Amino acid sequence: MPGFEVFGSEENKHLKDVMDSGVLMRYGFDGMRNGHWKALEFEKAFAHRMQTDHCQLVSSGTAALTVALASAGIGAGDEVIMPTFTFVASFESIMALGAVPVLVDIDDTLTLDPKAVKAAITDKTRCVMPVHMCGSMADLDALKAICDEHQLILLEDACQALGGTYHGKPLGSVGNLGCFSFDFVKTITCGEGGAVITNNENYKINADRYQDHGHDHIGNDRGAEGHPHLGYNFRISELHAAVGLGQLSRLDEILAIQQKHYTEMRNALGQVNGISFRRVPEGGVENYSFLNFYLPSAQLAKEAHTALLEAGVDGCFYWFDNSWHYINGWQHLKDLQGLGKMPQEVQDGIQDLHSADFSSSDHWMGRNISMLIKLGWDEEELLNRAKKASSILEGILQKDRV
Ligand SMILES: *Cc1c(COP(=O)(O)O)cnc(C)c1O
Repeated sequence: MPGFEVFGSEENKHLKDVMDSGVLMRYGFDGMRNGHWKALEFEKAFAHRMQTDHCQLVSSGTAALTVALASAGIGAGDEVIMPTFTFVASFESIMALGAVPVLVDIDDTLTLDPKAVKAAITDKTRCVMPVHMCGSMADLDALKAICDEHQLILLEDACQALGGTYHGKPLGSVGNLGCFSFDFVKTITCGEGGAVITNNENYKINADRYQDHGHDHIGNDRGAEGHPHLGYNFRISELHAAVGLGQLSRLDEILAIQQKHYTEMRNALGQVNGISFRRVPEGGVENYSFLNFYLPSAQLAKEAHTALLEAGVDGCFYWFDNSWHYINGWQHLKDLQGLGKMPQEVQDGIQDLHSADFSSSDHWMGRNISMLIKLGWDEEELLNRAKKASSILEGILQKDRV
């Protein structure tokens, strides 16, 4: 996944443009900026690459989710359906607006189970937020049908799946809104940054204002601009946008390397009797940032994970026990542990996460191992790694069979 493996001259060129002019902010200072508008240029290029009408850059992926929800008018007490397996940003962004996260099970795609989504809909539901974890997508056709039937907003969190597609369309462009992160470990990075994409002009206008204190951005005197509604500061800087612009030009090269490395690794592990792979919904193409596979039981997955790490096969994640990406580790959410008082709507509306039954999620998460696909592996490294991982898994599964 990591774009940080491939920095080079493109990023430097754009950065130098910004540093030479000294204008580090994306708005104003027209006379000083030598014609450089890196954030604007990145937005245009990204919208084009994602085949959508609009892109709004912001300061992080978490900011992108917050701005996207706000731009669709989601606020206090509204329910947003999200998966049990995701990054903490999902519920952080929802709760930042006083909205209520409704956690539901994932299935063998490691993303939202459409049946669980359907069962969770109430008259307060406003939005369904699938998270395309580890490079592959939710069953978007099924989710779209549910959203259409109930008039809900479909917001794709594509932070971990940049470059993947669904029936030929870029992930993030299928729903009403799509969000991306360019933090330091994502497919492309600008240090910290994020993006919202949409074909809805109203959402774009709202996002543009909300991420910059509600400024309407009419005219060229910031001090005289109108504020049709309240906002916040989720702006990206020209420095970050400059790095992102350089990285974006490498995206196809990054994806091609990931696909090659993923395919070799998958072919090797596919020979191991007892290993199965995550289901990719029909019509979907992964971005190949992770290889996700299942062992026959949670006990074996745990053993295999430990053995892989001990043997030096790094970059393998057992998310089930990880404190950041799965409900098991979110004690602070279960306890609604804010620094101050949480919004009343959240306190009243949130399900009891201490007692909720997520055994279907546990079933898949407990058996899953995710292997990060690195760009920097050379042929020999890749071959050795594939051999080593296969023989470790073979050993553990064989022992289990006797
Ligand atoms: C990284 C990530 C985010 C948040 O991105 P930041 O830029 O780190 O705030 C949100 N959702 C998912 C699935 C992510 O992986």
